[in-house]
Amino acid sequence: MRLTSVLCFVAFVSFVFPVVAEAQGKKVYISVDMEGISGVNGDDQTSPGGAEYGRARKLMVEDANAAIRGAFEGGATDVLVNDSHGHQRNLLPEDLDPRARLISHTFKRYGMMEGLDETFDAIVFVGYHAKADAPRGLFAHTGSGVVRDLQVNGRSVGEGGMNAALAAWYGVPVVTVTGDDTAVDEVKAVVPGIRGVVVKRAINIRAVELRPLADARRDIQAGVREGVQTAKKPARERLNSYQVRMQFRNFTIPEVASAFTEITQVAPDTVQFTRPTMPEAYRLIRVLYRFINTD
Ligand SMILES: [Zn+2]
Repeated sequence: MRLTSVLCFVAFVSFVFPVVAEAQGKKVYISVDMEGISGVNGDDQTSPGGAEYGRARKLMVEDANAAIRGAFEGGATDVLVNDSHGHQRNLLPEDLDPRARLISHTFKRYGMMEGLDETFDAIVFVGYHAKADAPRGLFAHTGSGVVRDLQVNGRSVGEGGMNAALAAWYGVPVVTVTGDDTAVDEVKAVVPGIRGVVVKRAINIRAVELRPLADARRDIQAGVREGVQTAKKPARERLNSYQVRMQFRNFTIPEVASAFTEITQVAPDTVQFTRPTMPEAYRLIRVLYRFINTD
């Protein structure tokens, strides 16, 4: 083949198969909660009935967009955002970076991690908060207000830890977490090597010292960029079984839950169950904290 023919052939191949180049790009999953968003500082911001909910939605999408920019700068070619707060319909698609796909609204079997599977290269937690009863954690809770403590295989976890266990099941690394300092410390303790971006300092469960918004968003973008750039997929972590223990703030939910034969009420306020896989355990945890109506 003459040189010109070779060049023509190369040009033809790269025209017909542009996917070859794109296949090297990373697929990034971003789970966005609200309490740990830059600037969010009050109960009247975090649910649709609240007077300042509209403001908080704007703040939330700005942090999400900073993370999306960072992901693309870090080598992502596909970004999936999952709205992970409350009724999970907080992010307005018209305000979101147009390059990202958005999972919106509930019911989702996997809640804050809906849509995740082993095809992703990296996961980012944006706007996360500390677990229930964490001293000093701003808006500290786990799943909903009814949980006092959640343990998976003997380890007390918050939403970040629970979601990280599901990520480990799929072998996708959680590379960056953003939130207040207590939330970031908590997730760092269960996900070695993760990058943390502190966007505000919790003074206690209500009071907070906010960083300037532009600084916080700049750091989110950089933290996600570096996290995605250096992401390496670990082996999938699949244990033989997942034992879950949940302590509640009331006695009624454990009593209702004991109607399921696989759930044992081990104390007036505590239930325990075992599932063979983390996705199955995750689903049942969500049912117990969110979908039992004791009225
Ligand atoms: Zn949350």
